[in-house]
Amino acid sequence: MEQPFRVLIIEDEAKMRKLLRKFLEQANYLVDEAANGWEGLEQFRRERYHLVILDLMLPGLDGMEVCRRIREKHRTPIIMLTARGEEVDRVLGLELGADDYVTKPLSPRELVARVRALLRRSFYPREEEPEVFRRGNLVVDFAARKVTIAGREIHLTTKEFDLLAYLCRHAGKVCSRHELLNSIWGYDFYGVGRTVDSHIRNLREKLAAVDGEEFSIVTVWGIGYKVEVKP
Ligand code: CA
Repeated sequence: MEQPFRVLIIEDEAKMRKLLRKFLEQANYLVDEAANGWEGLEQFRRERYHLVILDLMLPGLDGMEVCRRIREKHRTPIIMLTARGEEVDRVLGLELGADDYVTKPLSPRELVARVRALLRRSFYPREEEPEVFRRGNLVVDFAARKVTIAGREIHLTTKEFDLLAYLCRHAGKVCSRHELLNSIWGYDFYGVGRTVDSHIRNLREKLAAVDGEEFSIVTVWGIGYKVEVKP
């Protein structure tokens, strides 16, 4: 039998934890709970989890800080729970490395669907994309979600990889910030073009050793970005 996925809920509202636990257990996930940020971080470090559901507003150590600390060493998928009107924090959360967010008041069914989708994306290679993108010394393996430069693996965050993969799949085409936000972050929000910009900046740093003659991510001023490749 397949090993069940382990999910950690970090949320200070006991009622909400109970509700989420019920729905997640019905969907066959193993669930642990933590009632505040410190406890959550401690629990996360003690056990291994496939996914974390993280409330943004927590007493003591808030969700943003918990997310940042988890991301220092781990790529475990994180879904943030945010309240309405916390858009700015939500964007910050995504920049800090959360993979998805759900706005409260939430539908437990929707949350379970998001959990399932994120786990699938993170742990199962997409069958319809067996191909690999190669230019110069760069290899982007879409199925394995692995990037190497001259045979050396480069560590990318989930979003950095998604962004690079999207640009490579559309090599030669200008991709607007709007398009990138919608395709990769799955939302559209005024003023968050900088989310894309900061990820591009990180990507460029991490890909500095790529042969620029063969491959480069160019800025298309006022619009977005393009992967330029030699014909
Ligand atoms: Ca809360």
